[in-house]
Amino acid sequence: MSLKPVLEARGLFKSYRKDRLEVPVLRGVDLEILPGEVTAMVGRSGSGKSTLMHLLATLDRPDQGEVLYHGERIDNASRRERDRYRNHDIGIIFQFYHLMPELTALENVLMPSMIGNSMLGFLRTRRVHRERATRLLERVGLGERMQHKPAEMSGGEMQRAAIARALMSDPTVLLADEPTGNLDGQTGRSILDLLRDLNEVDGLTIVMVTHDDAIAAAADRTVRLVSGRLAADADADEVEVEVEVEVEERAESLPRAEQATASSAA
Ligand code: ADP
Ligand code: MG
Repeated sequence: MSLKPVLEARGLFKSYRKDRLEVPVLRGVDLEILPGEVTAMVGRSGSGKSTLMHLLATLDRPDQGEVLYHGERIDNASRRERDRYRNHDIGIIFQFYHLMPELTALENVLMPSMIGNSMLGFLRTRRVHRERATRLLERVGLGERMQHKPAEMSGGEMQRAAIARALMSDPTVLLADEPTGNLDGQTGRSILDLLRDLNEVDGLTIVMVTHDDAIAAAADRTVRLVSGRLAADADADEVEVEVEVEVEERAESLPRAEQATASSAA
């Protein structure tokens, strides 16, 4: 049986303008994500992993190329369709969780259903949403932490809450940008175990950026972003030697903008 990709990138180009300089980040990225697959995306800091995730999530637009969801272009879809895609088809989690500090875990998980609905619609369906949020928090192991605010939770617990929030709309694909990047090794592995379980039991398709080799090894396959392009991990070593100098020069001449991008995307 040949599976069709659920999510696909074709020839993506993306540059950022820095002063008067055009800095190319992605230079022809092709990627096919099959349903039920766990893909790890690796690459040096500054290689464009978050940029690519933002394009896949339609949080930003490519300069050139296409993003397709179930074979339909989504990158140039109407605002309404892109909102639908983000609110229903995909879930996103980040390195720094992006939970609302003043809300409890349960309220944080309920947030997407409040945003996706009119106030009246939300009130009418509140009980159903609360039950779903409660079930999801139990699913991610936070049954005892529903009324806790982020400040009263550990990093691992916050990421679990963020995962539950991302699952609220029952997405097909979970995009995870360094989900374990701010956690110690053991906690990171427990988050990975949870993601694998969501994949195996619930069939969730996962695209996960990581710089942790052990985490990448647990994925079904690994793709590496090198010199603005994606290579299957096995082929990447030779390419990397070639571009090393260039990439390092670029890294030195640029400020780290990832923090700003990540928080503006949340
Ligand atoms: P990674 O996630 O692999 O560390 P990013 O995608 O965050 O890399 O960044 C890739 C490159 O693009 C970096 O050199 C970064 O400084 C630059 N960059 C990212 N976002 C922006 C932005 N909004 N404006 C300007 N430059 C950016
Ligand atoms: Mg990044």
